[in-house]
Amino acid sequence: MTISHLARANVLALEPYQSARRLGGSGDVWLNANEYPLPPSFKPRYGNLNRYPACQPEQVINGYAAYAGVRPDGVLVCRGADEGIELLIRAFCEPGRDAVLFCPPTYGMYAVSAETFGVARRTVPALPDWQLDLPAIEAQLDGVKLVYVCSPNNPTGNIIQPEELKALLEMTRGRALVVADEAYIEFCPRATLAGWLAHYPHLVILRTLSKAFALAGLRCGFVLAGAEVIQLLLKVIAPYPLSLPVADIAEQALSAEGVALMRERVAQITATRQWLANELQECDAVLEVYPSESNYLLVRFAPGSPAFKSLWDQGIILRNQSKQPGLTDCLRITIGTREECRRVVTALRELPVTATRRQEAL
Ligand SMILES: *Cc1c(COP(=O)(O)O)cnc(C)c1O
Repeated sequence: MTISHLARANVLALEPYQSARRLGGSGDVWLNANEYPLPPSFKPRYGNLNRYPACQPEQVINGYAAYAGVRPDGVLVCRGADEGIELLIRAFCEPGRDAVLFCPPTYGMYAVSAETFGVARRTVPALPDWQLDLPAIEAQLDGVKLVYVCSPNNPTGNIIQPEELKALLEMTRGRALVVADEAYIEFCPRATLAGWLAHYPHLVILRTLSKAFALAGLRCGFVLAGAEVIQLLLKVIAPYPLSLPVADIAEQALSAEGVALMRERVAQITATRQWLANELQECDAVLEVYPSESNYLLVRFAPGSPAFKSLWDQGIILRNQSKQPGLTDCLRITIGTREECRRVVTALRELPVTATRRQEAL
């Protein structure tokens, strides 16, 4: 008798999310998880650690509401945007009956969370320009409770055009929730849908402190939505999702000073991204550098390029996206420090010429 035979069948069959930490590697240039390259200097001010924390600490909720320009009763704080993805499934999807829909290539956790709860995954591939295939979405909408749209999209880096999102919101009204994953919105703040929440009660926005706020290790994210959605999510969230040190550092990160520091980081990452994009265009091994509104670049290499493995062996860890639909020979490079990006460029320039084959591919 094994323990495994006691587990749920869908859990046995589940391929867990291939997180950067799980994929491992050993090196000194980590550009595979879209983290900020340097730790911020917050220190927890330990309070009453003998007491359970508030489920939804008021200062954190109010701080995020002020930062995002929404009402506090439309904010939920949780353990990263990943927990937000899951709470929505738990609150809205009946296992074995309902479905979630998303548009690959995109973030991998929508699929993993749905599978974990026995909820069907329906995929509608993005168009060649990575915008939404709205007619195909409409044709697939029966039984769908949640439509996840990632903007800026991970790993392609583009935003979804507002008129497409408006059309999607009209199409889904009264039928399904539209979940806009804005994990990277600080890198293109004008694209946020936060201002639309008052008009669309079925719009939900996911946010995080893991990217522009440089706090991936904190595990703190937010759901923005109408008060009715937030109340439903509060029914399924753990009673004490945030430890006291997490709530304390989140509060500091959302202070006026914390937000100003975040904006400086964004300006500096954006400048480095532009520099890196230009340098990569000049590399023989590179076929295309896609435009990005985020803190990473999606780069297509010559067919069969050894770039990923060669840099991996040198301790420069990038994210291989080749298995995603339409992304053969594509790598995602997180924008690190200028020095880390220089290391990438130098290593790519040193790839053996015979292996780059740019001319043949063109
Ligand atoms: C990083 C990321 C998340 C997860 O964010 P956490 O707050 O760290 O859980 C969610 N969505 C997308 C698109 C991401 O890239």
